[in-house]
Amino acid sequence: MPTRPTPFVVAVDGPSGSGKSSTARGVATRLGLAYLDTGAMYRGVTWALLQRGVDTNDPAAVAAVVPQIQIVSGTDPQHPTITVDGVDVAVQIRGEDVVRHVSPVSTVPEVRTHLVDLQRATIAAADPGIVVEGRDIGTVVATDALLKIYLVADTRARAARRAAEEGGSDAAATAASLLSRDRIDSTRATSPLAKADDAVEVDSTSLSLEEVVDHIVTLVEERR
Ligand code: C5P
Repeated sequence: MPTRPTPFVVAVDGPSGSGKSSTARGVATRLGLAYLDTGAMYRGVTWALLQRGVDTNDPAAVAAVVPQIQIVSGTDPQHPTITVDGVDVAVQIRGEDVVRHVSPVSTVPEVRTHLVDLQRATIAAADPGIVVEGRDIGTVVATDALLKIYLVADTRARAARRAAEEGGSDAAATAASLLSRDRIDSTRATSPLAKADDAVEVDSTSLSLEEVVDHIVTLVEERR
């Protein structure tokens, strides 16, 4: 029986608000690829822990509950979905409560192992390939990715984007929240946010979404 070629991965990593989601969805749509938002998975676990009343700053309590949480991600870049224990939580995972707790939850090694296994299974099922966004895709989840992008933007641009996405929330408070998450994400012991040695850094500060997508699509086409 002919075997299916191994799916290829376009990894899009970078700090919060650098434009990863819009970029990754745009690239996947243009190239007819699947799309996986791994941040939504960490948010989904956080939501489930909060629902169960688990102390998110107690790593042992978090680790004990994580195997019971069922996360399912839909990979259509035009309609990405996420359910937790069968409940559609697309809206809830963007709430302030989840945002406040997600970075501490993401430091727990058992959370990461559980979600990385799920992410690799999703990648293996993609045909012909998948754009995966997160913090550790190029460094841990898919080290053999066809292309690794490390997307950055200056703090002011990131905060302005996030505040607009959140319906005009206060830009200064949004900047403080982003910087706090960056600090936890970059300094944690397990899989910190980091640029892979072989990643291409793209600064989106003064580029339009279309320009960033065009640039990445060209890089993918050159490598395929
Ligand atoms: O990308 P997003 O802002 O939705 O990610 C939410 C949080 O999930 C991040 O701040 C980070 O703590 C965590 N995360 C992670 N590893 C990933 C994706 C997200 O630790 N691959």
